[in-house]
Amino acid sequence: MKKNLFKILNERKIFKLVLGLGNQSEENIVSNVEIYAKAGCDMFDINASEEAINAVYKGIEKAGKNKEDFLLCISTGISGDAHINKAEIIKSKCSGCSACVNVCPQDAIILLDDGYPFVQKEKCIGCKKCKCKAISFFENESDFDEAFRLAEKYNLDCIEIHLSSKKVPYDLLKSLIKKSKTPLSFCLDRKYYSNEKMKKIINKIKKWCGSSEFIIQADGVPMSGGENTFSSTLQAVSTAHLISDFTDYILISGGTNEKTSELAKICGIKYNGISVGSYARNLIKDKSPEEAVLLAKKLVDTCKE
Ligand code: SF4
Ligand code: SF4
Repeated sequence: MKKNLFKILNERKIFKLVLGLGNQSEENIVSNVEIYAKAGCDMFDINASEEAINAVYKGIEKAGKNKEDFLLCISTGISGDAHINKAEIIKSKCSGCSACVNVCPQDAIILLDDGYPFVQKEKCIGCKKCKCKAISFFENESDFDEAFRLAEKYNLDCIEIHLSSKKVPYDLLKSLIKKSKTPLSFCLDRKYYSNEKMKKIINKIKKWCGSSEFIIQADGVPMSGGENTFSSTLQAVSTAHLISDFTDYILISGGTNEKTSELAKICGIKYNGISVGSYARNLIKDKSPEEAVLLAKKLVDTCKE
């Protein structure tokens, strides 16, 4: 039977594994889902494609679990949001120093036989950690109609819209809200938005949704994948703190780690779960399956406390 997302959020805190809006690597999705499904993860967040959805189902099956026991969210992003960026090498400006290869958290850049790097776009999440004069970034635009189609076809639990841009496209936002038959989640961070601006955006979303049944993902520093410290997660917790008085469902995200729930509790913040991306994926990278599940479980349990 179809789960009710908001009923679950009312009952308990959830852990969402973020596989990345830009991450289209099937191998990467399957292996992470397998480990985190075993570790007690509640929700998986992937790019809006048929391949990614099937990769999640494959990972769940490999874990020996039922797909009905998990929530599934597909992500999209508006123009200007960092999550839809992809890196590209400008060969004429590249010295072949390979610094970008070593710094990429996704292992998306490889060195070719000619000594120049190459970006495997299906693995790139647009984090810009490889920034250099010989790398440019382009927007991999989201196809919202395709996301709605997939959400209905697979009876998904949520569509996420990354909304960080210098100018909020209110008309687009309104039309997406009106069109969607699937619950929506909106990712907001403070890169461009003041406290007042966030309040204004959320109030408009509430009006257009006609209810408070939507999620705000309070983003700290997106794709930071920082250390397991309070300072890495401080921004995400503070964003959640700012919006907690005027929205009902909050997931904390961006720079999240094993310290997030502790800090949120110290600050007395009301929230419904924690989304973890880079930190969670890096935690289990290159570990044996047994060790990976133990590490993942500790992270999941801490976030759900
Ligand atoms: S793209 Fe930049 S960092 Fe990467 S090899 Fe070329 S010069 Fe070095
Ligand atoms: S460092 Fe980030 S932006 Fe650069 S190639 Fe890797 S994933 Fe993409």
